[in-house]
Amino acid sequence: MLCANGSDELLRMICTAFLPPGGSAAACYPTYSLYEVLVEIQNATMTWIDWPGDYSLPADELAGAKAAVTFLANPNAPTGTLVSPPAVSDLAGRLNGLLVVDEAYADFAGSSCLGMVGRHENLVVLRTLSKGYSLAGLRFGFAVASAGVIDGLRKVKDSYNCDAISIALACAAVSDQGHMRTNVGRVVAERDRLTRELRARGWDVPDSRANFVLARPPDGQARRRYEALKQRNILVRYFDQRRLDDRLRITVGTGPDNDALLAAIDEIR
Ligand SMILES: *Cc1c(COP(=O)(O)O)cnc(C)c1O
Repeated sequence: MLCANGSDELLRMICTAFLPPGGSAAACYPTYSLYEVLVEIQNATMTWIDWPGDYSLPADELAGAKAAVTFLANPNAPTGTLVSPPAVSDLAGRLNGLLVVDEAYADFAGSSCLGMVGRHENLVVLRTLSKGYSLAGLRFGFAVASAGVIDGLRKVKDSYNCDAISIALACAAVSDQGHMRTNVGRVVAERDRLTRELRARGWDVPDSRANFVLARPPDGQARRRYEALKQRNILVRYFDQRRLDDRLRITVGTGPDNDALLAAIDEIR
């Protein structure tokens, strides 16, 4: 295991250590936008494989890309969808390069690939306290991988990347699993209610295992709704890009937050 200044730092270290300039990385589209930025900084190229409509893992295409580093956010952002651990394990076995399973939202999923690290030398699982523990400002993440991978990351690590205060607070946070699970339980219950309510209004919402939902209004007019919600001081994410510009990524709020969102959606029409 290796701790870092958020999992973003681990992603950067992975690219520095394992992605040679001119080399290739692969990921499913759409996903977390930082992967592409880091690949470009490394002067490497990204091969994008579109997620199929049912968000099942396109393992043949990913294996065919023969990338030095393959990124998989699981649950994925901004779709919220989850790939099952057996499917991830199967992919890891078929790749020669490194498979990075970014589990930023795993606390909300009740599913993790941490347990299969011992079986795959080329698998690195990233976790963070930013989402499930609500501690994004703390900047604390960790990587779990084989000794060979961790050694490679250590070589490119800043000597003192985690300060004493963040380490002390991260230890306190992970020691209190009850607190995290109570919060996660609230988010999950509200996520599932929000999903049901949006579907009842004709919105298309894939099952989310994260702390947000990606929802398509019946007419696909997402930008208009984004603007109208913003006018009402309700902030959701709108991505003006392929496969996302007809939907909104809505972070799960408290019960009253979500009620306000649903009421606004009914009002906007
Ligand atoms: C938030 C997020 C991260 C970054 O987490 P930090 O630990 O705050 O750097 C990484 N990957 C995904 C998919 C995220 O959503």
